[in-house]
Amino acid sequence: MKLFIGAHLDDIEIGCGAYLSCLKKRGELEFINKRILILSEGRFNNPIDVSNKRKEAFEINMEKLGIKENEYKILSQRIDTEFYDHQHEIKHHLNELLKEAQDDEIIEVYFHSTDNHQDHQIVNKLVKEIFRPFLVNRLVEFEIPSSNLFNQPGDNFNYYLPFDKEIADMKQELIDSYENISLFTTEDARDINYTLMFNKMLGRKLNKDFCERYNIIYTDYI
Ligand SMILES: [Zn+2]
Repeated sequence: MKLFIGAHLDDIEIGCGAYLSCLKKRGELEFINKRILILSEGRFNNPIDVSNKRKEAFEINMEKLGIKENEYKILSQRIDTEFYDHQHEIKHHLNELLKEAQDDEIIEVYFHSTDNHQDHQIVNKLVKEIFRPFLVNRLVEFEIPSSNLFNQPGDNFNYYLPFDKEIADMKQELIDSYENISLFTTEDARDINYTLMFNKMLGRKLNKDFCERYNIIYTDYI
């Protein structure tokens, strides 16, 4: 089973949108046992409540990827700053996922790298606590470039997923779903428009078209 865990509604698309698109393009995604857990509706601390629109965008993306309603869960009514107070509840949901996954032969967990977002840090910490090596087969951190760009040297990533223009377009399409709401939300939301640019810069350095960065913390197979 592949588990994807994000703090906000757009995190999975930004962090591993190309990986998901590759799986989709190869026709693998629909046959893989998978769960997606999003820990907040991403209200930010914003005067305008855009969580419903963000949710709509996320649901459109799940449909685009062919991920069914019973395969994803969005924990509701929680703003970013409340993550710290809800650690107990988040842990409960992570434990539930682990229980569900245990019948699976192979369990892979994809979650946030540690960046400067407090909520990403909390997710990172809790996921590592629950999904320990040997309980799962693979633990992989993904990168959110917009919250990583200015304060991470990048040497904490050890896996680069190269991808081509076709996959880039598929990823951009997922990000575009949020575009109509990004005009009146915080800087964070605007930054997602730079995601593909960042993926391209990274690709250039490595002589590829585009790249997503990951950190494989643990794997018992290659
Ligand atoms: Zn986020």
